[in-house]
Amino acid sequence: MFPLGVTLDLSRGPASPLAPRKPNLSGLTRVELAAALVAAEVVPAAKAKMRAGQLWRWIHHYGVTDFAAMTDVAKETRAALAGAFAIDRPEVVERQVSKDGTRKWLIRTAPGIEIETVYIPDVGRAGALCVSSQVGCTLNCTFCHTGTQALVRNLTAAEIVAQVQVARDDLGEWPSPKEDRRLSNVVFMGMGEPLYNLDHVAAAIDIIADGEGIAISRRRITVSTSGVVPELQALGEKTQAMLAISLHATNDALREKLVPLNKKYPLAELMAGIRAFPGLSNARRVTFEYVMLKGVNDSPAEAKALVQLLKGIPAKINLIPFNPWPGTEYTCSDWGTIEAFAAILNRGGYASPIRTPRGRDILAACGQLKSESEKVRASARRKLA
Ligand code: SAH
Ligand code: SF4
Repeated sequence: MFPLGVTLDLSRGPASPLAPRKPNLSGLTRVELAAALVAAEVVPAAKAKMRAGQLWRWIHHYGVTDFAAMTDVAKETRAALAGAFAIDRPEVVERQVSKDGTRKWLIRTAPGIEIETVYIPDVGRAGALCVSSQVGCTLNCTFCHTGTQALVRNLTAAEIVAQVQVARDDLGEWPSPKEDRRLSNVVFMGMGEPLYNLDHVAAAIDIIADGEGIAISRRRITVSTSGVVPELQALGEKTQAMLAISLHATNDALREKLVPLNKKYPLAELMAGIRAFPGLSNARRVTFEYVMLKGVNDSPAEAKALVQLLKGIPAKINLIPFNPWPGTEYTCSDWGTIEAFAAILNRGGYASPIRTPRGRDILAACGQLKSESEKVRASARRKLA
């Protein structure tokens, strides 16, 4: 939905790529947090669980970025913690707000690594945050601007959680509110293929969903995949998150052109994998994303084929008007065509909202962000530094 720009900007020069960085506690699960405290000899093993619980609330419920704020932790312990670990945020390099309320942050998580994250109000229960899971993408979906970029690296759990924390900082949502939230949903629809970074994505979801912290329930977290079939089961079991599938075509010949991963995992396998997805029910439907490309996949016959293909699957279909980018061979379907397509799906029994493009004026809408991410060897980075 929102392939986000991730920039590896060498012109600005990495500050010091070799400087040792203290591990940031924000990216550790509860179990990892307790273990890290013991390993660093900050806390004896017998007290680790209690202390980890205390820190957890400060970090994830109150959103503090300084150990000094942890008033119920002894001064010496706070100093020891600060000596061994970090809990500060990555730098927000740029912040933009659209006329329609969409916000976009450019976040630098490490020297030279920059990620864009987008908050869209009035999506989901109150507002959705679109997060990235990788810097770049190994896949080359032909309608996706960012698909033309090589993978730089997977994001860590801390870097994924940081995107939520930065949004919460800016929205003023600390301590974590129980009601009336502006950030109610998280969608892994930014840059990258989350199922190629499942361990970090699952750890980040454990952290984001924890009831004594950020507390965004797993039912309000959606992971979007282009169809990495062998990981679907693990995604369901590890995360209990909601599933979104970037479908875009109803036959293999066309889907291979749009989503080349289809050559590896053709539609029959993909649909079987989806039918077997853990926890699928009418209350937990799969979202199918379908980008509307003029004259390519938008005919009434294709709408009917889509209804046939999804038969028996508890599903809703998101029709996404294509956002053109420089050099693309595609154009967006006409509005009338999109509405006619949606009407056929509705008659077939599927809710099929048309996703209004958001944040176009700040280039935050689907496929609008131009990313300059580039894979550079560590040795070359050091040389430049
Ligand atoms: N890699 C994952 C998650 C990224 S979200 C995935 O592909 O599902 C990717 C979504 O962005 C896709 O579903 C696609 O519908 C959408 N998308 C990519 N480029 C787009 C564009 N130019 N216009 C509209 N939607 C686009
Ligand atoms: Fe874009 Fe495809 Fe990668 Fe998703 S999987 S980010 S659509 S190239």
